[in-house]
Amino acid sequence: MAEEKHFWQRFAPKQYEKTLMDVDLQFLQEQGIRGIIFDLDNTITPWNEPHIPQEVINWFTALRKMGFHACLLSNNGGERVQKAADLLQIEFVCNARKPFKKGYARAMEVLQTKPNETAVIGDQLFTDMWGGNRWGMYTILLEPMAPKEYWFTTNFSRRLEKVAKRKLGLPLEKGIKER
Ligand SMILES: [Mg+2]
Repeated sequence: MAEEKHFWQRFAPKQYEKTLMDVDLQFLQEQGIRGIIFDLDNTITPWNEPHIPQEVINWFTALRKMGFHACLLSNNGGERVQKAADLLQIEFVCNARKPFKKGYARAMEVLQTKPNETAVIGDQLFTDMWGGNRWGMYTILLEPMAPKEYWFTTNFSRRLEKVAKRKLGLPLEKGIKER
């Protein structure tokens, strides 16, 4: 039993919030966090949509004013990631291959931070959270913005994620259908 718990713990976020706007930046600053790595799809923008909600844009303005460094880290390629980064006036790393560690290292180079000064904010346990935890970063899980996703994510990853969320005692979001 203890061993099983240890297995799931690698996917566990340090903190859980419903939306980006619920993340307390003041608190992060007090913990010594200087740089934040962000997932794009379903964290900042609804899945595969170019649109970024105005309240998200405003939140990023506040973040920059507080002196945080920020970087998008996406498994997707190129243009969409760059457009979002430009709009938010932050840096980006694409084709990140999360949860592998290398993409996070590239993001830390951009942010000029060490792992213990870096937070990760994303909506998926098996990519965003696992990768951040492997570096010992401060991981924050959000509820995904939109339930519409790649077929593979919906039918495989999310179902497995639901199992993990149960094991870790995390809330299950509404968009995921019961089997
Ligand atoms: Mg995502």
